[in-house]
Amino acid sequence: MKTLADVTIVCASKYFNSDEMIKIYHKGFVHMGENRVDVLLEKKKQLKTYPFVWHFIGHLQRNKAELMIHEIDVLHSLDSIDLAKKIQTLRTKPIDVFIQVNATGEPQKYGVDIENVSSFYEELKKYDKIKVVGLMTMGKLDDSVVTEQAFEKTLKINQELKLPSISMGMSDDYELALKYDTTHLRLGRYFKSILEDENGTFS
Ligand SMILES: *Cc1c(COP(=O)(O)O)cnc(C)c1O
Repeated sequence: MKTLADVTIVCASKYFNSDEMIKIYHKGFVHMGENRVDVLLEKKKQLKTYPFVWHFIGHLQRNKAELMIHEIDVLHSLDSIDLAKKIQTLRTKPIDVFIQVNATGEPQKYGVDIENVSSFYEELKKYDKIKVVGLMTMGKLDDSVVTEQAFEKTLKINQELKLPSISMGMSDDYELALKYDTTHLRLGRYFKSILEDENGTFS
């Protein structure tokens, strides 16, 4: 069982403005994950003197990729070959990406279906500007049984593909994600209590 100290904590910064992100920085966090292109670009401008590592964790539309694919360090939401093709044409240097997997079988969810992940990964080997570092998945809201199964399945495929990283676990299910060896947590609301408590930190 991993602990919070063993993993990369990405702050899901959609809940926070730039001033709050500076406070979070002073508590020791540099990984910021945005899920909207316009907000990411604006905050990056405001926070350019801070050494943040920028992650994009939301759904990325192909027509928005051009605006920000040079502005981020890690993409957590690659979910289509069309988007991969677009990134291939835009990037000069390879970018670290997680393949987003729909591991709960919810039809409204983004992500590659779990049974197609291996072939999707093979296909991506053609694109030298895309460096797959791992799989990303989301649990099912208020259903820890389905969430646990999803994390277990995602870990299994991650291991079969011998990928080094895995991005799963949010404020409500991070303990389950730690149980299934995640390397990256994406925490949003969790940071609210830390900000409210002047002396609060994670460890
Ligand atoms: C908002 C968000 C999170 C974090 O949400 P919390 O439940 O507040 O921790 C994680 N991942 C993605 C993709 C998000 O949009």
